[in-house]
Amino acid sequence: MKKRIIVIGGGVAGMQTALRLAEQGVEPVIVEKEPELGGKLRGWHVLFPSFTPAEEVLTALRRRVNESGIEVLTSAEVVGLEPRSVRLADGRELHGDSVVVATGFTLFDASIKEEYGYGIYDNVLTSADLERMFNEGRVARADGTAPRRIAFLHCVGSRDEKVCQQHCSKVCCITGVKQAMEMKKLFPEADVFNFYMDIRMFGPGYEEMYREAQQKYNIHFVRGRISEAAPTIDGRVQIKAEDTLTGRPLRMSVDMLVLLIGMRANDDNARLAEGAGLNRASSGFMAPRDLFLGNVCSNVGGIFYAGAVTAPKSIGETLNEATAAADAAAKYAEA
Ligand SMILES: Cc1cc2nc3c(=O)[nH]c(=O)nc-3n(C[C@H](O)[C@H](O)[C@H](O)COP(=O)(O)OP(=O)(O)OC[C@H]3O[C@@H](n4cnc5c(N)ncnc54)[C@H](O)[C@@H]3O)c2cc1C
Ligand code: SF4
Repeated sequence: MKKRIIVIGGGVAGMQTALRLAEQGVEPVIVEKEPELGGKLRGWHVLFPSFTPAEEVLTALRRRVNESGIEVLTSAEVVGLEPRSVRLADGRELHGDSVVVATGFTLFDASIKEEYGYGIYDNVLTSADLERMFNEGRVARADGTAPRRIAFLHCVGSRDEKVCQQHCSKVCCITGVKQAMEMKKLFPEADVFNFYMDIRMFGPGYEEMYREAQQKYNIHFVRGRISEAAPTIDGRVQIKAEDTLTGRPLRMSVDMLVLLIGMRANDDNARLAEGAGLNRASSGFMAPRDLFLGNVCSNVGGIFYAGAVTAPKSIGETLNEATAAADAAAKYAEA
């Protein structure tokens, strides 16, 4: 009899975990709460660092899942788990030989940072909103005109004790660089500013992209945090900041303010962790058993982790981790 492993979440982590399990002759079942597979990638346009369309990656993964004959349950939310079973919101129980949790992250709600007026003022949007606009092929101000001056603000809902999010979300600096470049391609005459606390270019090719953004696209990087935003009478957004390199206060009107929102712990983590006795980090992300020798294992035997459920990660890191999680879960199930 084939071993059966339950994979919770059908984002890139869940799909890659299931594909690897199937390759090894194990029978995976993906349980996804949304009506379709893909996770956050469904909302992204082109991916850093290569500008590959997100749709291309998604289509390839979905096709492979389909061709492998992997069982997929969509619109099925997991509300409780144990090492050999999960409970769904509709009361059903699924049984398996082990469980991989690949439930990802939740986007920070920018309206919590009231000082930036997200959801109140026109032309204040988030990085996720901008990805959607790129996908819809309609990037414009609220009145339909083209932006002439655009500001990106880094670290919104990350590295911020006031909103209980002390961690760095890791991917938003490079997302800000990528989106700034996309805006310059669409609006070559526009002035684009990125306001940052630190620039964190952790991955291969990222530092090169950051340099290209400055040298080829003439994007301005200003070290300083925007303290507040306010609407102007002509529908623009006035921002106040301090340039912390020169020590000078700065005030400017922009046509668009883009808030680079962070990746925070999945809202479901607390409930799932409590029921199964899983440890969580102070950030709310699930805590691996050992950061060096067991980073895809939980503290409970038979429950494993893949992807952004344990920390902010890029897609490449998520895919690699999913492969490792599948191997660990299969080994456990066979034992
Ligand atoms: C604005 C932004 C842009 C980004 N752009 C890039 C990029 O260009 N390149 C790159 O490498 N990375 C990028 N990333 C990072 C990328 O989004 C993550 O690496 C990736 O989404 C992690 O995949 P995941 O499967 O772990 O999580 P997710 O994508 O969050 O998928 C988790 C899945 O689990 C499901 N789920 C959650 N809870 C349950 C439950 N209780 N029951 C059942 N299903 C559940 C969800 O519905 C979802 O489908 C970006 C991140 C942000 C915030
Ligand atoms: S990656 Fe950059 S923008 Fe994101 S939290 Fe870290 S320092 Fe801030």
